Amino acid sequence: MQTAIIYTRVSTDDQAEKGFSLRDQKDKLVKYCDAKGIEVLKHFEDDGYSAKTFNRPQFDNLLDYIKKNKGVVNKLLVIKWDRFSRNMEASLTMITKLMKLGVTVEAIEQPLDESVPENLLMKAFYLAAPQVENQRRSLNTTNGMRKGMKEGRYLGSAPFGYKNSRDEKNRPVIVHSDLAPLIKKAFEMFATGMYQIEILRKELYKVGLNVSRNQFWLLLRNPLYCGKIKIKAFGNEPEEIVQGIHEPIVSEALFYEVQDVLAGKRKITTKYARVNDEYPMRGFMVCSKCGKNLTGSSSKGNGGTYYYYHCTKGCNERFKSVNLHSNFENWLGQISFNPEMGSLYLAIMEDVFKTNEGDRDAEIKKLDGELEYNKGFLDKATEKFITGDLDKDGYNRMKENTAKKCAGITNRIAELKSTDSGFKDYTKYTISLLSNLKQYYSTASLENKQKMLGLIFPEKLVFSNYEFQTIEPNEILTLLCSAGNGFSDSKKEKSSKNAAHSYVVTSEELHQ
Ligand SMILES: [Zn+2]
Repeated sequence: MQTAIIYTRVSTDDQAEKGFSLRDQKDKLVKYCDAKGIEVLKHFEDDGYSAKTFNRPQFDNLLDYIKKNKGVVNKLLVIKWDRFSRNMEASLTMITKLMKLGVTVEAIEQPLDESVPENLLMKAFYLAAPQVENQRRSLNTTNGMRKGMKEGRYLGSAPFGYKNSRDEKNRPVIVHSDLAPLIKKAFEMFATGMYQIEILRKELYKVGLNVSRNQFWLLLRNPLYCGKIKIKAFGNEPEEIVQGIHEPIVSEALFYEVQDVLAGKRKITTKYARVNDEYPMRGFMVCSKCGKNLTGSSSKGNGGTYYYYHCTKGCNERFKSVNLHSNFENWLGQISFNPEMGSLYLAIMEDVFKTNEGDRDAEIKKLDGELEYNKGFLDKATEKFITGDLDKDGYNRMKENTAKKCAGITNRIAELKSTDSGFKDYTKYTISLLSNLKQYYSTASLENKQKMLGLIFPEKLVFSNYEFQTIEPNEILTLLCSAGNGFSDSKKEKSSKNAAHSYVVTSEELHQ
């Protein structure tokens, strides 16, 4: 009876080792020996060592075993030659060494009858192939990188917010750097629609996000931050976006919100670069005389500090901030929601939301279709694998790619569905907000005050003759006024040179 040692191996070089599980290798070798009536003396297994040399711990033990049992071992069996070695020269040396110890090396899936001289050429080919493959891979960096990227691995220099690192298997990955929180902040702040891009960049620059104007622009457009990898078009391959394996810094929803703001789908309301609790209305008020922004400053006197809003250009427009604030809050107090308007407002909102929901339903349907397609694709691949038209490596690659694609699509669907119930909450909040503007505003934080101002008065306000006016018609106020809720749109003749629109509380109603 013939005797054999079986040897199995996987290395750290993941790309080269796809489709080789240690268990698979062992199973195949044991079955082979059973079928051929070969006695398996021992099994050696190396996990995580390069096959370019024979400096592998278990291979050393294997050699020791053979030396100690000289004459007992007839064969050393591997499934393929590249399990034995990926270096042709080292292979040939080792084969000779083993031959002197009475052991022949055989690859059961690449069998060679060595009594046929031509087969030596075949053997040389088998031994050389893994090495050629290694070299081609390292030369072919473009293809290699594209392949890696398609599998979701970002290769190349890490962008702001990430740093290059290695995973537990020593493969390149990108991980969050110290800048990641600032990147997240950039997306969150920009998504509010209250910042002009350059003002936001300068604000973040001060706290450590040292990026240029152009870099910041690209940063907000880079889907890498929400976990995607954009692969540029190359040769015949079109540009594609794949799900990455790196940890996102922002959610996909936030990323797309920012894209909407960038695309102008959402209005950007100007916000002053400087924020100061004393001047919440700075950036939302313009001078009634010249139309320039009002700014704030303070002066000391009479044992206290006094705060003022005044024209940036130097007109003598100047208001004590406490006065302006109380006037404004009183004005907000006059604006309250007419219950009859509630139903109309809800109907309008429902319309708007239904349109959006229609778009979303269509998108979900499309994604469902993509998911089905990918699943069908995998089914076909499985069939081919079973019938032997597709090898195991190819099948595993396909399976993994498809799983990644499906995961990406499933996430997107879940996200779309999760925004489904937003309508009622949104309108409930809006109606409550509009019914209690003064209360909401006076108790809000600076940030929320400015958010409210940006949302309700995107057109900017003018304070003149103890009246607040907007420079353009204001949708919300128009809606409230058309309900006869105590406000009247000023007549054209009354409009100032800024074409201001005032919403005046009549004295009669003031005294009610
Ligand atoms: Zn002015």
